[in-house]
Amino acid sequence: MDWSVRSWLGRGRGTEGEGPGPVASPTGPASAAQRRAAATFAARLTFEQIVRRYDDGDALLGVDLDIAPGEVVCLLGPSGCGKTTLLRIASGIERPSSGRVLINDREVAGPERFVPPEERSVGLMFQDFALFPHLTILQNVAFGLKALPPEVARREAMSVLSRVGLERYASAYPHILSGGQQQRVALARAIVPRPSVVLMDEPFSGLDVQLRDSMQEETLALLRETRATCMIVTHHPEEAMRLGDRIAIMRKGRIVQLGRAEQLYHHPAELFVARLFSEINELDVTVRNGAIDMPFGRVPVTGLRDGDHATLCIRERGIRLHPAGTCGLAGRVLHVKFLGDVGLVEIGVHGFDVPLRARTPVAVGEVWSKGAEVSVEIDPARILLFSKQGRETK
Ligand code: ATP
Repeated sequence: MDWSVRSWLGRGRGTEGEGPGPVASPTGPASAAQRRAAATFAARLTFEQIVRRYDDGDALLGVDLDIAPGEVVCLLGPSGCGKTTLLRIASGIERPSSGRVLINDREVAGPERFVPPEERSVGLMFQDFALFPHLTILQNVAFGLKALPPEVARREAMSVLSRVGLERYASAYPHILSGGQQQRVALARAIVPRPSVVLMDEPFSGLDVQLRDSMQEETLALLRETRATCMIVTHHPEEAMRLGDRIAIMRKGRIVQLGRAEQLYHHPAELFVARLFSEINELDVTVRNGAIDMPFGRVPVTGLRDGDHATLCIRERGIRLHPAGTCGLAGRVLHVKFLGDVGLVEIGVHGFDVPLRARTPVAVGEVWSKGAEVSVEIDPARILLFSKQGRETK
């Protein structure tokens, strides 16, 4: 096979050498080695001060982001915060109003030049999978390989189809496939040209919850095999934690925090970030003598002055219930909702003006019923404090 021939999506990959990769068998079932996806050369993807203005408002307000070769970064944030716009700018479907995009330190969008999508070596995967209904599965996957001789393109496409376990559907049409199978085809089509960068816009949102988990695992495995750099847009914090080496939290056209899942969970820079990653009780508090006096003890404060107002957050999973009189603070159960592994319990707690919500493991036979007297234990490690402007300050 001629590995120097580049697909239309691969033409802009630059001059770095390409490894030979596994050679697919032209016919017959693929061996275990052949079932692995062909590896690419990952690229660094860099955004410098990206701004995108529209007539009716600004979608991006100066985004800086540097994604290392082979890294998976998830863009997470509420609807309208600019995630898809950033992805479209990376792909070349859209131009930034100002700022630069670089792939392997080469400017692909900016004041100097604009490289069209087909020359950026990017693979794209959309929320609705965007399969062509009039093409067979094989033709869909081979769509990005037009620059290759037809037989080579067919072999390449079959090899990737086999990798995602769908070779038997090669001559079928997309409408007969389930959602999960369509997702696999879309993924195969995105990676078959061996792009250096894979961009995915909510790739799992069309799947039901059970299927989503397994598809996330499969997709991540495939991305690791291809070694492509990847940016994934998602609305779902858990999905971002599962998939991303790092997560970029976006809000109103900016990245407000970038880091590994543990960093974002344990040290959210803003109340907004804390709310994304766990259910929390939010309490209005005032600083007195350099600390917040709470019924369970003093919470020391840095960066705030006496008299300043702040928001103290207690994670719902940081509250434990015990039989009355055993430890902690006295409380009474006001409401209970059984959620399977945990119970969502609303409790009136001595010393608190408002009820607290706890997500607490429910042991077999243990029932916290409405009206029950309980002892409430609050884990100090599960407390966060934010200034009234929303910044973390503990
Ligand atoms: P969602 O999660 O709902 O897809 P998002 O975070 O991906 O949202 P974008 O689609 O990037 O958000 O949109 C960001 C902002 O830019 C929104 O206010 C949107 O209305 C606006 N916007 C996006 N594309 C255009 C366009 N072509 N013309 C005008 N405004 C646009």
